Amino acid sequence: MKMHSEREAVAAYCRKLTELGLTRGTGGNISIYDRELKTFAISPSGMDYFQMKPEDVVVMGRDGEHIEGMRKPSTEVELHRIFYEKREDINAVIHTHSVYCTVLGVLRESLPPSSYLVAYAGTGVRCASYATFGTRELAENVYEAMKDRYAALMANHGLLAGGKDIEDAFTVAEEIEFCAETYIKARMTGDPVLLEQEEMTEMVSRIRDKYGQNRK
Ligand code: 13P
Ligand code: ZN
Repeated sequence: MKMHSEREAVAAYCRKLTELGLTRGTGGNISIYDRELKTFAISPSGMDYFQMKPEDVVVMGRDGEHIEGMRKPSTEVELHRIFYEKREDINAVIHTHSVYCTVLGVLRESLPPSSYLVAYAGTGVRCASYATFGTRELAENVYEAMKDRYAALMANHGLLAGGKDIEDAFTVAEEIEFCAETYIKARMTGDPVLLEQEEMTEMVSRIRDKYGQNRK
């Protein structure tokens, strides 16, 4: 089976997405890219995450061709593929319907630097313009909103997160949902105080380049 370990990881992370409350039902989708083979493994469309097996995950080429797998790929193939086409630093993409990111998306607002943890995505998280789910237009809007960042909110929809690998992309999705939740709750309680852009630039370097056991 082609991309066996990546297909296993996609299925496992889809379950994790539900277990951690980052999506509901069959909402959201996950893919992992092999930069050498120029192929990616993407979750099947509309399939119960707890029934999903590695062979249900579909393998596709970077140009959109179907390579292996019996299932229909996610309707959001373009939303994943655009990042493998255009960004050298992204090898895994996670789309979620996490509640607080979606709330900001409904308000069509960006997430400002309310916590240093926003630095997992950049100095803030922009909200992409609305487009119908599953379209190239949605992929292009989200790609634009994610310039120089690792996450974008999706108007009236959810969140997109990218990373150098699946672990990294998942951390971004989890931390940005935490930041969106605390920011909205702070707004409901009073007037949030935001971090300065200069401080956030420093935080991005500390979090993305230095934080954790695998970095100096
Ligand atoms: P798929 O089940 O086709 O991946 O679609 C879910 C979704 O979140 C669409 O935006
Ligand atoms: Zn969606």
